[in-house]
Amino acid sequence: FPSRLPNVGTTVFTVMSALAAEHEAINLGQGFPDFPCDRKLIASVNEAMLADRNQYPPMIGVAELRNGICQKIQNLYGQHYDPDSEITITGGGTQGVLTTILACVSPGDEVVIIEPAFDCYRPAIELAGGKTIAVSLQVTRDENGQVASYEIPWDALAKAINPKTRLLIINSPHNPTGMVWQKTDLDRLAQLVKNTSTLILSDEVYEHMVYDGAAHYSVASHPELAARSFLISSFGKTYHVTGWKVGYVAAPSALSKEFRKVHQFNVFTVNTPMQYGLASYLADASHYLNLPAFYQAKRDFFGAGLAKTRFKLLPTPGTYFQCADYSALNIPEAQLNEADFCKWLTTKVGVAAIPVSAFYDQPTESGVIRFCFAKQEQTLATALQRLQSL
Ligand code: GLN
Repeated sequence: FPSRLPNVGTTVFTVMSALAAEHEAINLGQGFPDFPCDRKLIASVNEAMLADRNQYPPMIGVAELRNGICQKIQNLYGQHYDPDSEITITGGGTQGVLTTILACVSPGDEVVIIEPAFDCYRPAIELAGGKTIAVSLQVTRDENGQVASYEIPWDALAKAINPKTRLLIINSPHNPTGMVWQKTDLDRLAQLVKNTSTLILSDEVYEHMVYDGAAHYSVASHPELAARSFLISSFGKTYHVTGWKVGYVAAPSALSKEFRKVHQFNVFTVNTPMQYGLASYLADASHYLNLPAFYQAKRDFFGAGLAKTRFKLLPTPGTYFQCADYSALNIPEAQLNEADFCKWLTTKVGVAAIPVSAFYDQPTESGVIRFCFAKQEQTLATALQRLQSL
C-alpha cells in the first residue's frame, strides 16, 4: 500500500544506538544519560503506585502536576498559564510536537523550520499535509574554514514567513548545535510575526541546560510570543528519565483547546503514577536549578579532553550536546562525509556520535558531528581516551 511517509527511514538515533550496541562502542550518540535518576523520584512514583493511583488520570493530566508546572513557569518566566485550560501533560516532547502540528496544520499550510532541525518535525508536518519550508542557520567559519558558530538566519526567516505560514518551529537551547536564543532574538521574532497569523511551536526541552550563568529565554517570558505559542518541554531531559516519556505543552486556552482535541484521540492521556511522582518532585525547585552547574561540569570535562585532539569544538552555551568539527583530523577518514565518519567512529574507534547532516533534509555537509556529554565521568574519560588516539 502507498506509504504516507515514503522518504522516511528509521530515525538516526535508533540506528546509531543499535550500531553502538552491536560494536560495544561508547554511546555518545542518542541523547540520554547513562547515570541513574534521583532515588527520591523513584520512591515518589512507587508511592503513587502503592497508593493505587494506577487508573486513567484526567485526559489533560493530573492536577497536581499541572499545578506544579504552572508554578514553575510563573516563577521562572513570569507568565501565568491556567493549569486547567492551558497546560496538558504529554507522552514526552515528541508527542507534544506531533499533536501540536496535527492540531494546527491543514493540508497546504506552510510550516517554517530552521535546519539543522530535530528529526521529528518534518515527518509530522508531512503527515498533516503541510508543506515544510526550511531555512538554515547561518554557519560562520574561522580562518581555517572550520565551523565557528551558528547564527539565526533573520533575513531568510523574514522571506519565508508569508500569509500561508501557519506555524514556525523554534528550538532553544538548540539540538544539535547547542545554540541559545537571547532576549533580543525573541524581540526580533515577535516583530517578524506581528500582524501575521503564524503560530509558534517552541521546543524548549533543554530549557534547564543553559551554561556560564546565562538565562534561558522561554517564549513564556515574552507575552506577545506566548499569546501565539505552544511551549513544549520534557521531564525526561530534566530529571534524567528519558524512558518515562512524560512532557507537557503550555499554550493559551484557544490553542490548548485545539491541541486537546487531537491529544485525546492520540494518546488520550499519560501514565498516572509517573505524573504523581513527578508532581511531588517538581515542588522542590533545587533539582532543575542545580542542573546547569551539574551539566556544565560535564561539558567542561569533555571539552577539555576533546581540546587535546584535532577535533575543533563548537561553542556549547546550552543542551547536553557538544558539536565538533573533525575536518582537521590528520587521518584519511577526515575526508568522509558525516554519516560515514560517525559509522567509522562507532565501529572502529568505539565511540558513537551523530552526524549533524542527519538534521538536514537536503544533503548538507559541514564536517560537524554531535557528541552527548550526559554521561558519567568515567564514560566520558574512556571515550576521550579513544578520541585522543586519533
Ligand atoms: N532527543 C534525543 C537526541 O537528540 C533523541 C530522542 C530520540 O531518540 N527520538 O538525541
